[in-house]
Amino acid sequence: MSALFQNYARRPVHLIQGKGTIVTDDTGKDYLDFTSGIAVLSLGHAHPAIVQAIQQQSEKLWHTSNLFESPEQEQLAASLVKGTHLARGFFCNSGAEANEAAIKLARKHTGKHVIITFEKSFHGRTFGAMSATGQEKVRQGFGPLLDTFRTIPFNDVDQLEALIDDGVAAIMLEVIQGEGGVNKVSPEFAQAIAAICDSKDILLIIDEVQTGIGRTGTRYAYEQTALKPDILTLAKGLGGGFPIGAMLGTSALHDSFGPGTHGSTFGGNPLAVAVAQTVINNVFTSEFLIAVNEKSTYFMGKLKTALPAYEIVGSGLLLGIVCPDEVAPYIAQAEQAGLLLVAAGPNVIRLLPPLTVTTEEIDQAVNVLSSILI
Ligand SMILES: *Cc1c(COP(=O)(O)O)cnc(C)c1O
Repeated sequence: MSALFQNYARRPVHLIQGKGTIVTDDTGKDYLDFTSGIAVLSLGHAHPAIVQAIQQQSEKLWHTSNLFESPEQEQLAASLVKGTHLARGFFCNSGAEANEAAIKLARKHTGKHVIITFEKSFHGRTFGAMSATGQEKVRQGFGPLLDTFRTIPFNDVDQLEALIDDGVAAIMLEVIQGEGGVNKVSPEFAQAIAAICDSKDILLIIDEVQTGIGRTGTRYAYEQTALKPDILTLAKGLGGGFPIGAMLGTSALHDSFGPGTHGSTFGGNPLAVAVAQTVINNVFTSEFLIAVNEKSTYFMGKLKTALPAYEIVGSGLLLGIVCPDEVAPYIAQAEQAGLLLVAAGPNVIRLLPPLTVTTEEIDQAVNVLSSILI
């Protein structure tokens, strides 16, 4: 009998070591990790710069709480907002927590309560984030949720416009729905949202927990759209494997999050911040982002050639193969063949290699995929 709650459908593989894109299990078998721990390991496993950052910080200071000032958090927030219209940051420990902060800030700032979210979205498992999530399987069984979320089909301009009234505090979306099937916001929908948020007192919250930090080939995925978030949430790739989340916002929101309004004991812990700063110093350079785009183009091209019957979706190194049937058996076969994958919804194979993946590793992954899917 397990000593754990069985809330995860775990695969029977025990990974014990990793380097770059390769992970090794307790039998010595190597795998290509095209999950990156679900879009987390932006620099791959055991990147030397991250190992060094955590070693050095662990000998200096592990934790202080937010009772004291933190030039390190200041620097990380400044690095995250640099070159954007955003101006402030708040640190927490996960994506769900970043979204909770966003929901609280939007409600406090506007004095309104309704937040519009979209079907197939995923915003996390806490009560606010779960209420925001447009997937019944995530919400089922937990009784009444927050009744201030209105969830409508993604990319449906008419239904969105029909919901807009003076009670709406914010619109909250993912630029590419990661868990829900690698679904991109359409240019028309982005235009419509931007027009609504420009003309009304309605905030735009963009959840970039999965798409942020270079994953889609730009620092943030919203940069590839007409959208300009008032609030942006981050987690997964930000810590490169160390738990950290962040909420960024415009300077107009500054006064709504004053002392005592929100907080986190661990948020912005020195170890987490040292690692995240190292991730950002590596990822937020034009050479690195150009390389991500080149790898993306290469990967897309190889997939389209090898799998001409399949639709390939996504951006950067958040790609999906749309399959006509359930993908779980393919993912199990890939694992047997030494390639770790994760699904996005029932019928999309999600491809999330570390941003440091090599073209040889992409070739190997495509070989495995074509042997399974054709
Ligand atoms: C994973 C994810 C979350 C939740 O993040 P946790 O760290 O698991 O709480 C929220 N939003 C999006 C878009 C995600 O992909």
